[in-house]
Amino acid sequence: MHLALSQFCDVQFSRFSRFLKREKCLCFHCGESMRKDRALMATFQQQQHPVCCHGCLAVLHAIEKNHLVQDYLRSKVDSQQGKDGA
Ligand SMILES: [Zn+2]
Repeated sequence: MHLALSQFCDVQFSRFSRFLKREKCLCFHCGESMRKDRALMATFQQQQHPVCCHGCLAVLHAIEKNHLVQDYLRSKVDSQQGKDGA
């Protein structure tokens, strides 16, 4: 049952991923718009996030390494709230 479901998901995902290749996404660090197939994946807080370049990847690594995650996330939320007005 679990196997059948995962096979079904694989088929759906491969169809979907072809569609996604032309999709855009936003860099987790700087918010730059980029093509999804060009995105680099950064591991941050045990999760994968898309980033636009090795510079942003390095920044995220440096933040984790220097234990600045809480400060970073707080400043991110502040700036997002400023932009959206939410
Ligand atoms: Zn970036």
